[in-house]
Amino acid sequence: MEIARRFIKERILSRDEFVLLLQQSGDADVREMLRQEAFALCRKYYGNKVYIRGLIEFTNYCKNNCYYCGIRRDNRNVRRYRLTEEEILSCCREGYALGYRTFVLQGGDDPYFTDERMTELIRRIKENHPDCAITLSIGEREKESYRKFREAGADRYLLRHETADEAHYRSLHPQEMSLSHRMKCLYDLKELGYQVGAGFMVGSPGQTLVNIADDLLFLHRLQPEMVGIGPFIPHHDTRYAGEKAGSVDMTIFLLSVIRILLPKVLLPATTALGTMDPFGREKGLLAGANVVMPNLSPEKNRKDYSLYDNKICTGEEAAQSIAALRKKVESVGCQVVTDRGDALR
Ligand code: SAH
Repeated sequence: MEIARRFIKERILSRDEFVLLLQQSGDADVREMLRQEAFALCRKYYGNKVYIRGLIEFTNYCKNNCYYCGIRRDNRNVRRYRLTEEEILSCCREGYALGYRTFVLQGGDDPYFTDERMTELIRRIKENHPDCAITLSIGEREKESYRKFREAGADRYLLRHETADEAHYRSLHPQEMSLSHRMKCLYDLKELGYQVGAGFMVGSPGQTLVNIADDLLFLHRLQPEMVGIGPFIPHHDTRYAGEKAGSVDMTIFLLSVIRILLPKVLLPATTALGTMDPFGREKGLLAGANVVMPNLSPEKNRKDYSLYDNKICTGEEAAQSIAALRKKVESVGCQVVTDRGDALR
């Protein structure tokens, strides 16, 4: 209780103190205290607004081989797809009509989408929808590429750091990937004026409370505009098929902690959270989250963007079900809004 009180007051703790706080994540009083503070901060800065982002998973080809991910390069059992430019533009048109004013282009690290193809795509989306924000989530690229995308009109970039611990990062990724490069990308993106999102999986294999404390300290150093966290969920075609999934309660607890750590951050209640718990989204919104990212990908491709097992993509998860989503959001006293929802700086 004492440590939680101090965290609320100072908004930062030392590494050891964060570990202590995390050890209390199961204590109902501590949870409720942090949840209330997080919820109040969210109200203070964003009112009861919940921002919606239309997520377009435009390719599941990937040159990387992250051990936890269902669409990693070496998984031969994935039916690979790539949307055409016309298909992507049509997703945006449909999303626009539904009220979406942010499009998130997410994909595997797919070399087919060269700088030229990406900039052309970004330009055309901006041409059709000048009042919309474009968020990219296409992994690690050269700073020069990020610069071109930014000049073409990209506004935001999501690149989870995955874990701030070198050894833990090593255990989750093959040799050719590195934490230092991923972090360099995040700082490059910041320098280029993107609104940047970092984040990590909760309960990824081998993750300790000390790792999470380091994740929180890293987020505090980076000061990102957005943070994406969701429970790790095993995928049957990975080495982690038999691992247990990350905890919904820990994820909710961390949403509150991150809201207090970075009061103005844009914080989604993620798909993974909604996958693990039918009320995950609502619980997230009550604990400090203020963004949801429904799926705008073409129906025919949705199940092939299989990062983990049982990933939800229908019901309120589908961007088309915006009425149902509104109801859900309103059931916890929040309100879906359709403005761009840029970060407060
Ligand atoms: N290629 C892009 C997008 C990756 S997919 C990139 O590298 O940034 C988006 C996020 O899904 C990843 O950052 C990871 O944190 C999450 N993810 C991948 N596999 C997962 C799993 N098995 N369980 C939960 N989340 C997962």
